[in-house]
Amino acid sequence: MRFESEGILGVLDSTKELSDSFGRIAKKLRISITDRCNMRCIYCMPFNNTKWLSQKSILTYEQITYLAEIFASLGIEKIKITGGEPLVRVDIISLIKSLSSIKGINSISMTTNGILLKDRVAGLKEAGLESINISLDTFNRTRFKSISGIDGLDIVLESIKSAVSQNLRVKINTVIIRDWNDDEISEFVEFSKKTGCPVKFIEFMPLDGTKIWSENLVVSKDEMIDKINNDFGKLSPLDNDKADPARLYRFDNGNATIGFIPSITKPFCQDCDRVRITAEGKLHTCLFEKKNYDLKALLDKGKSDKEIQEYIRNCILEKPEGIIKIIKNHSLEPGINNMYSIGG
Ligand code: SAM
Ligand code: SF4
Repeated sequence: MRFESEGILGVLDSTKELSDSFGRIAKKLRISITDRCNMRCIYCMPFNNTKWLSQKSILTYEQITYLAEIFASLGIEKIKITGGEPLVRVDIISLIKSLSSIKGINSISMTTNGILLKDRVAGLKEAGLESINISLDTFNRTRFKSISGIDGLDIVLESIKSAVSQNLRVKINTVIIRDWNDDEISEFVEFSKKTGCPVKFIEFMPLDGTKIWSENLVVSKDEMIDKINNDFGKLSPLDNDKADPARLYRFDNGNATIGFIPSITKPFCQDCDRVRITAEGKLHTCLFEKKNYDLKALLDKGKSDKEIQEYIRNCILEKPEGIIKIIKNHSLEPGINNMYSIGG
C-alpha cells in the first residue's frame, strides 16, 4: 500500500506549518472515527437517528493513519480520537498503536461516553493513549437516562474508577444546560476534589442534531464561577495555555482543578489551533462552519502525498474567523453543525 511503502515523512516538506489567514497555526487534529453512538444525548444526537454513514463511506484505519502522518508532516503534534462514540468501532486499540508510532505526534487522547471503556483501559494505555476525556453530565440515574437515553450512570462511574486506578490521565466533560443539570455544578466540583479528575464544564453549543439549543439554555462560565465561589470559596485562574479551549482554575484553599469551555460567552477563536476530520474524511477547519473539504476523495483518486499536503494547506488558509463572527452578526441558531459527526 502506498503509505506503507513510501515512508511519506521522508518525502514531504515538513518545514511549513499549517497557518491560516488570521495567523493561527494548527497543532491539534481531532479525528472522528464514527458517527455511530450507543447514547442519544439530548444536546447532541436525535433520538430516532438512523441515518448512519455506510461502512464503505468511512475512512479505514489505514487511511486515518496515513492522513495523520500527512498532518504530522505539516506540524500537527496532538491527536484526539472522538466520534460518535469511538469505542463502538472495532479494534480501536490497533488504531491507537498506529497513531502513536507516528513521528512528530507527541500525544494521543480520546473523548468517550465511557460505556464501553471499563475493560479496555489497560489495552488503550498500552497502545499509547495518554489521556482520556470521559463525558458525564449528572450523578442522578433517572436524569442520566433522560439526558442520554440509556441507564448507564453506574457503568460510566465504574469506567472512570478503572481509568483512574490504572493511572490514565482522566478529565470529565460536563455539558451544563439550564434547568437540566445546572443544580449539580457543586456535586461535580466535589467529585473533582474527591477523585482528582479535573471537571471541564462546557457551555451548551448550537451543534445539537436535536435543534433544541437556545440562548436561554446556556449557563455562562461566569455564572458557574459565581456559584462555585459561593459554595466552595474562591477559584483563581491558572496560567492558561492560550490555545487550550478549557480555561483552568484552582481553589485558593484546595487542590481541585476545574475547567470551563466558554465557547458561547467567551469564544477563544483567536487562539484556535485545532482542525478536525470526520469519519468520512471531511476536513472541517472550524466547528461552526458548514463548509468542509473531502480528503477521502483525494485518497480514492490516488492523489500523491504532496498533492494532498498542498490541498490541506490551502484549506487551512480558508479557515474562517469562527463562532466569534457568527455571534457578532447575531446569527447563532440551533443545529449549526452536528457534534456527533464532527466530534467536538
Ligand atoms: N461520544 C463521545 C462523548 O460523548 O464523549 C465523544 C463524542 S462527543 C460529540 C464529544 C463531546 O462533545 C462530549 O463531551 C459531549 O458532551 C460534547 N457535546 C456534544 N454535543 C454538545 C453540544 N451541543 N454543546 C456542547 N458540548 C457538546
Ligand atoms: Fe453520543 Fe457523545 Fe453525542 Fe452523547 S455526546 S450522543 S455520547 S456522540
